[in-house]
Amino acid sequence: MFGTKWKRSIFSSASNFNKIDLKSKEWHTRLDKIHGLPIIHHHGYVCDLPTNHRFPMKKFHKVIDYLVSDRVIDRNKQVLEPDQVPMSIAENVHSHEYVDKFFNGKTTENEQRATGFVWSPGLASRVRYETGGTLLGALVSLQRGMACSTAGGTHHAFADRGAGFCLLNDLAVAAQYLLDEKLASRILIVDLDVHQGDGTANIFKNNKNVFTFSMHSRTNFPFRKEQSDLDIALEDGVEDDEFLNVLQDNLHDIVSTFRPDFVLYDAGVDPHKDDLLGKLNISDSGLMKRDLFVLSEITKKGIPVASVIGGGYSDSIDELAKRHTILHRAATKVWMQFNRLCL
Ligand SMILES: [Zn+2]
Repeated sequence: MFGTKWKRSIFSSASNFNKIDLKSKEWHTRLDKIHGLPIIHHHGYVCDLPTNHRFPMKKFHKVIDYLVSDRVIDRNKQVLEPDQVPMSIAENVHSHEYVDKFFNGKTTENEQRATGFVWSPGLASRVRYETGGTLLGALVSLQRGMACSTAGGTHHAFADRGAGFCLLNDLAVAAQYLLDEKLASRILIVDLDVHQGDGTANIFKNNKNVFTFSMHSRTNFPFRKEQSDLDIALEDGVEDDEFLNVLQDNLHDIVSTFRPDFVLYDAGVDPHKDDLLGKLNISDSGLMKRDLFVLSEITKKGIPVASVIGGGYSDSIDELAKRHTILHRAATKVWMQFNRLCL
Protein backbone atom coordinates (compact mmCIF):
# COMPACT_ATOMS: atom_id res chain seq x y z
CA MET A 1 0.00 0.00 0.00
CA PHE A 2 1.40 3.35 -0.99
CA GLY A 3 1.57 6.14 1.50
CA THR A 4 1.73 3.86 4.55
CA LYS A 5 4.87 2.44 6.12
CA TRP A 6 6.77 1.58 2.97
CA LYS A 7 10.34 0.73 3.73
CA ARG A 8 13.26 -0.14 1.54
CA SER A 9 14.19 -3.82 1.66
CA ILE A 10 17.53 -4.81 3.16
CA PHE A 11 17.83 -7.31 0.35
CA SER A 12 19.51 -5.45 -2.48
CA SER A 13 17.63 -5.71 -5.73
CA ALA A 14 18.32 -6.63 -9.35
CA SER A 15 21.51 -8.58 -10.04
CA ASN A 16 22.50 -9.04 -6.42
CA PHE A 17 19.19 -10.18 -4.98
CA ASN A 18 20.61 -12.79 -2.65
CA LYS A 19 22.96 -10.44 -0.79
CA ILE A 20 22.42 -8.24 2.22
CA ASP A 21 25.04 -5.52 2.24
CA LEU A 22 26.11 -4.97 5.85
CA LYS A 23 28.20 -1.98 4.78
CA SER A 24 25.36 -0.21 2.98
CA LYS A 25 23.93 3.09 4.12
CA GLU A 26 20.43 1.58 4.32
CA TRP A 27 21.63 -1.08 6.74
CA HIS A 28 23.43 1.38 9.02
CA THR A 29 20.57 3.85 8.95
CA ARG A 30 18.27 1.09 10.12
CA LEU A 31 20.59 -0.20 12.80
CA ASP A 32 21.56 3.25 14.11
CA LYS A 33 17.97 3.75 15.28
CA ILE A 34 18.19 0.74 17.58
CA HIS A 35 19.19 1.34 21.20
CA GLY A 36 19.26 -1.51 23.69
CA LEU A 37 18.74 -5.21 22.99
CA PRO A 38 17.59 -5.56 19.35
CA ILE A 39 14.17 -7.24 19.05
CA ILE A 40 13.10 -8.59 15.67
CA HIS A 41 9.35 -8.52 15.08
CA HIS A 42 6.89 -8.19 12.22
CA HIS A 43 3.09 -8.08 12.31
CA GLY A 44 3.32 -10.43 9.35
CA TYR A 45 4.54 -13.24 11.67
CA VAL A 46 0.83 -14.03 12.06
CA CYS A 47 -1.64 -15.34 9.47
CA ASP A 48 -5.26 -16.46 9.59
CA LEU A 49 -5.93 -20.10 10.45
CA PRO A 50 -9.19 -22.05 10.61
CA THR A 51 -10.99 -21.73 13.98
CA ASN A 52 -9.76 -24.26 16.57
CA HIS A 53 -6.52 -24.96 14.71
CA ARG A 54 -4.01 -26.53 17.13
CA PHE A 55 -1.22 -24.07 16.32
CA PRO A 56 -1.28 -21.04 18.68
CA MET A 57 -0.78 -18.48 15.90
CA LYS A 58 -1.91 -15.47 17.94
CA LYS A 59 0.97 -15.85 20.39
CA PHE A 60 3.40 -13.87 18.22
CA HIS A 61 1.44 -10.61 18.58
CA LYS A 62 0.90 -11.23 22.29
CA VAL A 63 4.63 -11.74 22.88
CA ILE A 64 5.49 -8.27 21.60
CA ASP A 65 2.47 -6.76 23.36
CA TYR A 66 3.59 -8.16 26.73
CA LEU A 67 7.17 -7.07 26.18
CA VAL A 68 5.95 -3.52 25.55
CA SER A 69 3.23 -3.34 28.25
CA ASP A 70 5.55 -4.85 30.88
CA ARG A 71 8.21 -2.33 29.83
CA VAL A 72 10.76 -5.01 29.08
CA ILE A 73 11.41 -3.25 25.77
CA ASP A 74 10.82 0.14 24.19
CA ARG A 75 9.04 -0.46 20.92
CA ASN A 76 10.36 2.73 19.34
CA LYS A 77 13.99 2.11 20.21
CA GLN A 78 14.45 -1.64 20.01
CA VAL A 79 12.26 -3.21 17.34
CA LEU A 80 13.52 -3.98 13.87
CA GLU A 81 11.19 -5.33 11.19
CA PRO A 82 12.48 -8.10 8.91
CA ASP A 83 11.82 -8.53 5.22
CA GLN A 84 10.46 -11.75 3.81
CA VAL A 85 13.23 -14.18 3.01
CA PRO A 86 13.85 -14.21 -0.76
CA MET A 87 13.60 -17.45 -2.68
CA SER A 88 17.33 -17.37 -3.51
CA ILE A 89 18.34 -17.36 0.16
CA ALA A 90 15.85 -20.09 1.13
CA GLU A 91 17.31 -22.18 -1.69
CA ASN A 92 20.75 -22.17 -0.07
CA VAL A 93 19.26 -24.76 2.30
CA HIS A 94 16.08 -26.04 0.71
CA SER A 95 15.76 -27.67 -2.70
CA HIS A 96 14.66 -25.44 -5.54
CA GLU A 97 11.74 -27.77 -6.18
CA TYR A 98 10.48 -27.54 -2.59
CA VAL A 99 10.91 -23.76 -2.32
CA ASP A 100 9.05 -23.29 -5.60
CA LYS A 101 6.24 -25.55 -4.39
CA PHE A 102 5.93 -23.88 -1.00
CA PHE A 103 6.27 -20.27 -2.13
CA ASN A 104 3.80 -20.78 -4.96
CA GLY A 105 1.21 -23.05 -3.37
CA LYS A 106 1.98 -26.21 -5.28
CA THR A 107 2.52 -28.65 -2.37
CA THR A 108 0.26 -31.70 -2.41
CA GLU A 109 -2.42 -32.44 0.18
CA ASN A 110 -0.22 -35.16 1.70
CA GLU A 111 2.75 -32.82 1.95
CA GLN A 112 0.54 -30.21 3.60
CA ARG A 113 -0.89 -32.73 6.06
CA ALA A 114 2.62 -33.55 7.35
CA THR A 115 3.16 -29.87 8.16
CA GLY A 116 -0.07 -29.45 10.11
CA PHE A 117 -1.17 -26.54 7.89
CA VAL A 118 -3.29 -26.22 4.77
CA TRP A 119 -1.32 -23.99 2.38
CA SER A 120 -2.52 -20.42 1.90
CA PRO A 121 -0.82 -17.29 0.54
CA GLY A 122 -0.97 -15.93 4.10
CA LEU A 123 0.87 -18.96 5.45
CA ALA A 124 3.66 -18.63 2.88
CA SER A 125 3.93 -14.93 3.66
CA ARG A 126 4.10 -15.54 7.42
CA VAL A 127 6.78 -18.20 7.09
CA ARG A 128 8.87 -15.94 4.87
CA TYR A 129 8.68 -13.12 7.41
CA GLU A 130 9.58 -15.50 10.23
CA THR A 131 12.60 -16.88 8.36
CA GLY A 132 13.62 -13.36 7.33
CA GLY A 133 13.34 -12.45 11.04
CA THR A 134 15.76 -15.13 12.16
CA LEU A 135 18.17 -14.14 9.41
CA LEU A 136 17.90 -10.47 10.34
CA GLY A 137 18.46 -11.36 14.01
CA ALA A 138 21.62 -13.23 13.05
CA LEU A 139 22.96 -10.30 11.03
CA VAL A 140 22.15 -7.79 13.76
CA SER A 141 23.81 -10.03 16.37
CA LEU A 142 27.03 -9.94 14.38
CA GLN A 143 27.17 -6.21 14.93
CA ARG A 144 25.46 -5.84 18.29
CA GLY A 145 26.34 -9.11 20.03
CA MET A 146 22.76 -10.23 20.62
CA ALA A 147 19.28 -10.09 19.10
CA CYS A 148 16.01 -11.88 19.83
CA SER A 149 13.15 -12.52 17.46
CA THR A 150 9.55 -12.87 18.62
CA ALA A 151 9.12 -15.97 16.45
CA GLY A 152 11.33 -18.61 14.79
CA GLY A 153 12.69 -22.04 15.62
CA THR A 154 11.11 -24.04 12.78
CA HIS A 155 13.52 -26.92 13.27
CA HIS A 156 11.42 -29.79 11.88
CA ALA A 157 11.64 -28.55 8.28
CA PHE A 158 13.96 -30.64 6.08
CA ALA A 159 15.68 -29.55 2.87
CA ASP A 160 12.90 -30.94 0.68
CA ARG A 161 9.81 -30.94 2.91
CA GLY A 162 8.01 -29.36 5.82
CA ALA A 163 6.91 -31.23 8.97
CA GLY A 164 5.44 -30.60 12.42
CA PHE A 165 4.30 -26.96 11.95
CA CYS A 166 7.61 -26.09 10.25
CA LEU A 167 7.75 -25.09 6.57
CA LEU A 168 11.17 -23.50 6.10
CA ASN A 169 14.04 -24.18 8.51
CA ASP A 170 14.82 -20.65 9.67
CA LEU A 171 17.79 -21.72 11.83
CA ALA A 172 19.39 -23.55 8.91
CA VAL A 173 18.70 -20.71 6.45
CA ALA A 174 20.32 -18.17 8.79
CA ALA A 175 23.33 -20.41 9.56
CA GLN A 176 23.92 -21.26 5.91
CA TYR A 177 23.73 -17.60 4.91
CA LEU A 178 26.39 -16.63 7.47
CA LEU A 179 28.65 -19.43 6.20
CA ASP A 180 28.10 -18.62 2.53
CA GLU A 181 28.84 -14.94 3.08
CA LYS A 182 31.85 -15.80 5.26
CA LEU A 183 30.33 -13.91 8.17
CA ALA A 184 30.91 -16.89 10.47
CA SER A 185 32.84 -20.12 10.12
CA ARG A 186 31.85 -22.27 13.11
CA ILE A 187 28.20 -22.06 14.03
CA LEU A 188 26.67 -23.71 17.06
CA ILE A 189 22.91 -24.29 17.08
CA VAL A 190 21.62 -24.78 20.62
CA ASP A 191 18.14 -26.28 20.41
CA LEU A 192 16.40 -26.58 23.78
CA ASP A 193 12.87 -26.97 22.41
CA VAL A 194 11.30 -30.13 23.91
CA HIS A 195 11.17 -31.69 20.43
CA GLN A 196 14.34 -32.83 18.69
CA GLY A 197 15.68 -30.43 16.03
CA ASP A 198 15.51 -33.22 13.46
CA GLY A 199 15.35 -31.09 10.31
CA THR A 200 18.33 -29.00 11.37
CA ALA A 201 20.34 -32.12 12.32
CA ASN A 202 19.62 -33.69 8.93
CA ILE A 203 20.42 -30.56 6.93
CA PHE A 204 23.82 -30.13 8.59
CA LYS A 205 24.73 -33.80 9.16
CA ASN A 206 27.71 -33.56 6.79
CA ASN A 207 28.68 -29.99 7.57
CA LYS A 208 31.61 -29.75 9.99
CA ASN A 209 31.17 -25.97 10.27
CA VAL A 210 27.83 -26.33 12.03
CA PHE A 211 27.44 -28.08 15.38
CA THR A 212 23.87 -29.12 16.14
CA PHE A 213 23.06 -29.61 19.84
CA SER A 214 19.57 -30.77 20.71
CA MET A 215 18.30 -31.43 24.24
CA HIS A 216 14.79 -32.87 24.04
CA SER A 217 12.23 -35.36 25.34
CA ARG A 218 13.11 -38.91 24.28
CA THR A 219 9.51 -40.08 24.00
CA ASN A 220 8.16 -37.01 22.18
CA PHE A 221 7.78 -36.07 18.49
CA PRO A 222 9.63 -36.69 16.15
CA PHE A 223 9.37 -40.41 16.86
CA ARG A 224 12.13 -41.20 14.37
CA LYS A 225 15.00 -39.05 15.56
CA GLU A 226 17.83 -37.78 13.38
CA GLN A 227 21.44 -37.66 14.57
CA SER A 228 22.57 -34.24 15.79
CA ASP A 229 26.22 -33.62 16.60
CA LEU A 230 25.06 -33.99 20.20
CA ASP A 231 21.65 -35.27 21.25
CA ILE A 232 20.58 -35.39 24.88
CA ALA A 233 17.35 -37.36 25.14
CA LEU A 234 15.63 -36.67 28.45
CA GLU A 235 13.17 -39.00 30.16
CA ASP A 236 9.62 -37.85 30.92
CA GLY A 237 9.15 -35.65 33.95
CA VAL A 238 12.68 -34.24 34.23
CA GLU A 239 12.72 -31.24 36.59
CA ASP A 240 14.67 -27.99 36.79
CA ASP A 241 17.79 -29.12 38.63
CA GLU A 242 18.50 -32.15 36.47
CA PHE A 243 17.74 -30.22 33.27
CA LEU A 244 20.03 -27.36 34.20
CA ASN A 245 22.87 -29.62 35.37
CA VAL A 246 22.84 -31.61 32.12
CA LEU A 247 22.66 -28.41 30.08
CA GLN A 248 25.51 -26.69 31.92
CA ASP A 249 27.89 -29.64 31.64
CA ASN A 250 27.26 -30.18 27.95
CA LEU A 251 27.10 -26.60 26.72
CA HIS A 252 30.29 -25.77 28.53
CA ASP A 253 32.06 -28.70 26.85
CA ILE A 254 30.74 -27.89 23.38
CA VAL A 255 31.74 -24.25 23.58
CA SER A 256 35.27 -25.07 24.71
CA THR A 257 35.86 -27.87 22.19
CA PHE A 258 33.95 -26.72 19.07
CA ARG A 259 34.82 -23.05 19.69
CA PRO A 260 31.90 -21.48 17.78
CA ASP A 261 32.17 -17.97 16.38
CA PHE A 262 28.39 -17.66 16.17
CA VAL A 263 25.47 -19.20 18.09
CA LEU A 264 21.81 -19.61 17.19
CA TYR A 265 19.61 -20.36 20.20
CA ASP A 266 16.18 -22.00 20.00
CA ALA A 267 14.58 -21.22 23.36
CA GLY A 268 11.39 -23.29 22.96
CA VAL A 269 9.19 -23.13 26.05
CA ASP A 270 7.54 -26.52 25.48
CA PRO A 271 9.73 -28.19 28.15
CA HIS A 272 7.49 -26.26 30.61
CA LYS A 273 5.44 -28.33 33.07
CA ASP A 274 2.13 -26.87 31.81
CA ASP A 275 2.85 -27.23 28.10
CA LEU A 276 0.25 -29.24 26.20
CA LEU A 277 2.79 -31.10 24.07
CA GLY A 278 5.81 -31.23 26.38
CA LYS A 279 6.56 -34.13 28.69
CA LEU A 280 9.07 -32.45 30.95
CA ASN A 281 8.48 -30.65 34.21
CA ILE A 282 10.35 -27.36 33.95
CA SER A 283 9.09 -24.32 35.89
CA ASP A 284 9.03 -20.64 34.88
CA SER A 285 12.09 -20.09 37.03
CA GLY A 286 13.78 -23.10 35.42
CA LEU A 287 13.25 -21.59 31.96
CA MET A 288 14.60 -18.25 33.17
CA LYS A 289 17.70 -19.91 34.63
CA ARG A 290 18.15 -21.88 31.40
CA ASP A 291 18.01 -18.80 29.18
CA LEU A 292 20.22 -16.75 31.51
CA PHE A 293 22.78 -19.55 31.54
CA VAL A 294 22.88 -20.08 27.76
CA LEU A 295 23.02 -16.40 26.89
CA SER A 296 25.60 -15.44 29.49
CA GLU A 297 27.78 -18.48 28.79
CA ILE A 298 27.96 -17.47 25.13
CA THR A 299 28.08 -13.71 25.56
CA LYS A 300 30.83 -13.70 28.18
CA LYS A 301 33.08 -15.37 25.62
CA GLY A 302 32.35 -12.56 23.16
CA ILE A 303 30.41 -14.82 20.78
CA PRO A 304 27.40 -13.26 19.01
CA VAL A 305 24.10 -15.04 19.69
CA ALA A 306 20.75 -14.75 17.90
CA SER A 307 17.73 -16.22 19.70
CA VAL A 308 14.33 -17.45 18.53
CA ILE A 309 11.32 -18.37 20.66
CA GLY A 310 10.73 -21.95 19.42
CA GLY A 311 7.71 -24.05 20.34
CA GLY A 312 5.17 -23.59 23.08
CA TYR A 313 1.60 -24.88 23.35
CA SER A 314 -1.21 -23.93 25.70
CA ASP A 315 -4.96 -23.32 25.65
CA SER A 316 -4.19 -19.94 27.20
CA ILE A 317 -2.54 -17.72 24.63
CA ASP A 318 -1.82 -15.17 27.35
CA GLU A 319 -0.01 -17.63 29.60
CA LEU A 320 1.91 -18.99 26.64
CA ALA A 321 2.96 -15.60 25.32
CA LYS A 322 4.13 -14.56 28.80
CA ARG A 323 6.15 -17.76 28.99
CA HIS A 324 7.84 -16.96 25.67
CA THR A 325 8.83 -13.52 26.97
CA ILE A 326 11.10 -15.22 29.53
CA LEU A 327 13.67 -15.36 26.72
CA HIS A 328 13.56 -11.60 26.09
CA ARG A 329 13.59 -10.84 29.83
CA ALA A 330 16.65 -13.06 30.30
CA ALA A 331 18.34 -11.60 27.23
CA THR A 332 17.71 -8.06 28.52
CA LYS A 333 19.43 -8.92 31.82
CA VAL A 334 22.42 -10.44 30.05
CA TRP A 335 22.54 -7.53 27.60
CA MET A 336 22.67 -5.01 30.44
CA GLN A 337 25.28 -6.98 32.33
CA PHE A 338 27.40 -7.42 29.22
CA ASN A 339 27.21 -3.79 28.16
CA ARG A 340 28.09 -2.57 31.63
CA LEU A 341 31.15 -4.79 31.63
CA CYS A 342 32.19 -3.26 28.34
CA LEU A 343 32.01 0.32 29.57
ZN1 LIG B 1 8.66 -28.03 20.17
